[in-house]
Amino acid sequence: MKSRVAFLSIFLLAAEPCFCWGFFAHRKINSIAVYLLPPEMMILYKPHAEFLTEHAIDPDKRRYLVPEEAPRHYIDIDHYGKHPFPDLPRKWNEAVARFSEDTLMRYGIVPWWIQTMLKRLTEAFKEKNQVKILKLSAETGHYIADAHVPLHACSNHNGQLTGQRGIHGFWESRIPELLADKEWDFFIGKAHYIKNPGDFIWQGVLESATAADSVLAFEKDLSNKFPTDQKFSFEERNGIIIRQYSTAFSKAYNKKLEGMVERRMRQSIFAIASFWYTAWVNAGQPDLTRTVNKEFTPEEIKEFETLNKAWKNNTEEHD
Ligand SMILES: [Zn+2]
Repeated sequence: MKSRVAFLSIFLLAAEPCFCWGFFAHRKINSIAVYLLPPEMMILYKPHAEFLTEHAIDPDKRRYLVPEEAPRHYIDIDHYGKHPFPDLPRKWNEAVARFSEDTLMRYGIVPWWIQTMLKRLTEAFKEKNQVKILKLSAETGHYIADAHVPLHACSNHNGQLTGQRGIHGFWESRIPELLADKEWDFFIGKAHYIKNPGDFIWQGVLESATAADSVLAFEKDLSNKFPTDQKFSFEERNGIIIRQYSTAFSKAYNKKLEGMVERRMRQSIFAIASFWYTAWVNAGQPDLTRTVNKEFTPEEIKEFETLNKAWKNNTEEHD
């Protein structure tokens, strides 16, 4: 029995690393984004919705393998002053000239990285390269979703500076897992063409940065009012007992945020579908019934396996 419990504990940890929007939310975000696309794109995306969902989390897995991966997921924008951060140039070359590439890498590059991904995806559409389109779409979705998480635009990203460790996973994993399927509305409409993707994503990042203050302050305020023994609960999951923010505390926090997590999730979905659509339009609206390179090569399949292995080994080591 003891060994079974240990095994389950490893499994559970492996399923829930605490990086970005939890794996649950990343998968959900990409899978819903598919349904905002026009029929000409849906014809390719819908039959591959499972791939886009499953590979929504590849960039997080890659963080174990590639050192330069981590800064692509966030920006500690408060390092550059105060909102609206006038000292930080929005264009990459100007930002490098002002702060150096090393500094930018140290504090995170998510708004620029998304624009790099958009260019790559546009090229993939021009080539009508199906494998590339799907892979880049799944991963672009990941980074866009991360840019919408307030604590991904804040140096106090896990409340480590204010005695609120754990708030990162609380906001982006616990709350959506508890409420997304039961209470939230994901009817979002249609993807839009984005004329200026740079401005669009910077606006999303600035909204995240502004929201980070409330994310932290409201949790602190609620913790002060909430009886300590009711803040956390011990709940059974897959046969083992785990400690987590209680349902009552989670719901109270969500109420205090006035639906912020749901709103950011919806905005992520809209932004992702719109970036996919924009890449396709900018590539000249290629006919996606006539794609080439439809099968993953053995090397690409091996790469997916390597990602999975690195991720599993690492989470088990941490156990
Ligand atoms: Zn991430």
